[in-house]
Amino acid sequence: MVLPIDNPTKSFWIEGAESPLRNHRSTADLPKQTDVLIIGSGYTGASFAYWLQKFASNGASPDIVMLEARDVCGGATGRNGGQLRPHFYSRYRNWSTRFGADGALKVIQHEAAHLKAFDKLLKSEGIAKKVCFKLGETFDAAMSEEAWDRLKGEYELMKKDHGENGPIIGECRLIEDPKEAEEFTQMKGCIGAVVHPSGQVWPYKFVHALLEILLGTAKLNLQSHTPALEVSARDADGYITVTTPRGDIKAKTVVHATNRWAGHLLDEFQKLIHGGRGTIAAIKAPEGFIKNTGAQHWDAVINNYHLQLPPPYNTIIIGGAKPLTVHDPWQYINNDKEDEQFRGVPEFYAGWPKRDIVGWQGNDPADLEKKVEEGGVWSGVYSSSIDSFPFVGPVPRRDGMPRILGSTAHLAPLVLRELGIEYNTPEAAAIFPPLPDPFYATEQRIDSLQSVDAIKKFQDDVNDNLASSKKPFAAPYPQVVTD
Ligand SMILES: Cc1cc2nc3c(=O)[nH]c(=O)nc-3n(C[C@H](O)[C@H](O)[C@H](O)COP(=O)(O)OP(=O)(O)OC[C@H]3O[C@@H](n4cnc5c(N)ncnc54)[C@H](O)[C@@H]3O)c2cc1C
Repeated sequence: MVLPIDNPTKSFWIEGAESPLRNHRSTADLPKQTDVLIIGSGYTGASFAYWLQKFASNGASPDIVMLEARDVCGGATGRNGGQLRPHFYSRYRNWSTRFGADGALKVIQHEAAHLKAFDKLLKSEGIAKKVCFKLGETFDAAMSEEAWDRLKGEYELMKKDHGENGPIIGECRLIEDPKEAEEFTQMKGCIGAVVHPSGQVWPYKFVHALLEILLGTAKLNLQSHTPALEVSARDADGYITVTTPRGDIKAKTVVHATNRWAGHLLDEFQKLIHGGRGTIAAIKAPEGFIKNTGAQHWDAVINNYHLQLPPPYNTIIIGGAKPLTVHDPWQYINNDKEDEQFRGVPEFYAGWPKRDIVGWQGNDPADLEKKVEEGGVWSGVYSSSIDSFPFVGPVPRRDGMPRILGSTAHLAPLVLRELGIEYNTPEAAAIFPPLPDPFYATEQRIDSLQSVDAIKKFQDDVNDNLASSKKPFAAPYPQVVTD
């Protein structure tokens, strides 16, 4: 049983946004009853609530209560890397092996559609600037021959199956000349790169902006610091009861947007969804210094990824730190300790700009935006699904993520139909192709995954990571000092 801990490390996204909604409670007491109860106020919960209102015709939106265990959007969405970076080509080998060339393309097209849909949604709401949204290009920078062989291999395989100018692959390009690659990526020692469209956003501000819009309609009742402890079966009157420390609520429909913590309320997901821990830092940088978002790869395990926020912030957000943390993989595999920093990571990040960026013009070591413990460097827990895909849809036997906006756009009309509310598809939602097959939370998928030995899988991952830690590009790891 896992609920979010209440003392995670502080993140720049949350501290820097200074949102008045942070500890919002729409009413002093919880409503006794509602049409739709959403558990979780991250990107999934907020975008689902948004779609419910946009799809519902003639302003006939259902009443919604949203419960959040922490402060509003205090989970992964308030602690991530801010990259809207669809996998245009980089998982092609794995996905085409599992789902065939066309199946893989469908998954990729669904991810890629998020760029256009975000653009449409944010512009139509007039909040693109407020949430620091930007479209542009991103790169995978190969920092070793091993990485170049893999990245180029993924690109070539997709090109072979779909043609150089085929769907999606036609939007990717290779930079094969090392000098050009270093210049484009600004990464010292980069030997080649793959480039494709991408985006970036201040994720916490995005969620808070959506919620602000919804709260303005008075159809949403948002309750922070209110964990859902139990969800009952449906009673004879058609209601599901959700228990919280502040009282019970009866709902016609319950939506679990609880990410890594889903197994607390849904037993059948306990073995299927686990926690993994990431680390991110916010670094001060000269305005417009980083031209494109991107990632550095040394092998399939060791990487960093980064972006720079637009003015007035100009902050570099960097995540990964894998050249360092790879020495101790249990720090991030099957690990929920987001109240702790990773060993040596603040120093690693502070040294990164001078060490890795061509022509760094800022300080060395770099200045963090805030002190380490005040939001300069933080940990965050992401959900690690046993088969690497989200579970989207009605949970079987209980009538009742760049993947998330499209997944919630798929779900909203299903719920409205169940409630007997007429709906129309909003323009931004119409951009999405059908939900990819591997996302469906089918009975067969959930049952067959129960037998996967998660601990063995984690141990295999740890062994792979330890093998990477022996490679020459792994950074020296600080020694543990014991008295
Ligand atoms: C360090 C890190 C870096 C990442 N970088 C990127 C990136 O650059 N790009 C990208 O696309 N993705 C990234 N991700 C993944 C991305 O953040 C997630 O996929 C996304 O935020 C998930 O949104 P969500 O709403 O499903 O989950 P969350 O944002 O975690 O929301 C779930 C919410 O449910 C609440 N909750 C859970 N259980 C209960 C309960 N019982 N009662 C009440 N509330 C409950 C939680 O407190 C939480 O606020 C990263 C993740 C991490 C951790």
